[in-house]
Amino acid sequence: MPCAHTFTDGTPCAHPADGERCLFHTPPDERDASDAAVRDAFVEAVESRSPGRKRFDGAQFGVLELSSRVIDSKDNHEVRLDGADIEELRLPNASVREPVSLTGARIDRVSAPEATFERSVTLDGATLGAGPHEFTDATFQGKLLLTGCQVAGPVTFEGAAFGRKVDCTDARFEAGLDLEGCHLPSLRVSGATVEGGLQLLDAELDRLEVRNLSPDGCLVDCTRATVRSGTLAQPATGATAFDLRRATVGDVAFAFADPAAFDHYGILRTEFEGFPFADYRETLRAFGWRLHGFTARERESSTADLELTYLKAKNGATAVGDNDDASQFFVREMRYRRRRYRDRLADASLPLDRRFDSGGRWLTNRLLGLLAGYGERPSRVLGLALAVLTFFTAAYAAFGVTAGLSESIYFSIVTFTTLGYGDIVPPTDVTRLLAATEAICGAFLTALFVFTLGRRVTR
Ligand SMILES: [Zn+2]
Repeated sequence: MPCAHTFTDGTPCAHPADGERCLFHTPPDERDASDAAVRDAFVEAVESRSPGRKRFDGAQFGVLELSSRVIDSKDNHEVRLDGADIEELRLPNASVREPVSLTGARIDRVSAPEATFERSVTLDGATLGAGPHEFTDATFQGKLLLTGCQVAGPVTFEGAAFGRKVDCTDARFEAGLDLEGCHLPSLRVSGATVEGGLQLLDAELDRLEVRNLSPDGCLVDCTRATVRSGTLAQPATGATAFDLRRATVGDVAFAFADPAAFDHYGILRTEFEGFPFADYRETLRAFGWRLHGFTARERESSTADLELTYLKAKNGATAVGDNDDASQFFVREMRYRRRRYRDRLADASLPLDRRFDSGGRWLTNRLLGLLAGYGERPSRVLGLALAVLTFFTAAYAAFGVTAGLSESIYFSIVTFTTLGYGDIVPPTDVTRLLAATEAICGAFLTALFVFTLGRRVTR
């Protein structure tokens, strides 16, 4: 006798029934069969190679124990469990070779560590209960669709590998989503709610799309992760925090309407491989090219970390041919290097010679920074040269070396450029010393100017 149950699309259930309904469509408290007997009937039906018998829409299961089993019917028909009710789905070490649809299903707990899913798995609109839901070290060779999925308990995919995309659009995770150490070709978390945060520590993602994530302040932890492309967008209201410390960031778009949101991207010792710095020129300018605003709040970053942060940013900007931003990051790198020297100079635990060495380096750094912006600011050298010329022009007039403004300017320039025609000669020891000093300054500043100009041109 066939089962009296009819699926929502009007197709009658194809499973045989002893009474009115088949084993799967009889509520667990009304059937005599044990969970193991239901499981055996399920496996047999899946392996029957009849597409109709692979439909379990609206079925009710207790514990579906499939540990270490191979679920394979050697055809391409989907195992359909749409709207099914499963108390617990156990798949540790199982190998599922068929596509599985659990659209709109309700499952209290899923345990699938080290399971392999060779085809797509659809949990569209499914409801997962208190869990925990474990997919640790699982392999998903097909797509994993979690669109509109409602999950009450914690979900972990730690160490899992994915062959195709994972889509969490409009899903809701009430106790966090853990994808630590996962390999993902594409992860989409759009319009989703992730209470407890999205964990992507050490993960490797070819593409990551995060848009309109809630709640406000939700943390997407990408520490030490690799994100090759994608979009990390701020929601329309509130903010999402992206922790990118020690991560590798490729051609990724930081999308935000309010430039102040730039502080929600945590950058510290972050590698940039193809990041389009030039797209953020205005924001970077507004932030004074300060990348570590996010982490500055925690006060845990050392000057060495900060120096490395800007070195990596400079290298990243140089690699994409963005020399203007590279120059700004270089100035910051030098500034934090100076602080590192200063800290070493002040560190009483270091041997004296190392402290002296650091002191010398600090002084050189300080002078180069002040005089030439670490070789990045030719205009600063030019301004300094003008100041020197003006000072000595005034000094020659005051000491009576020259008569009148034009002669003072002429003598100052001739001395600065070390032309030394000899038509005007300083009369006293003091004025001779003045002229010699200007000549030294002139030679030094000319050399510095040529050096900074050269740097700017070759950048
Ligand atoms: Zn049935």
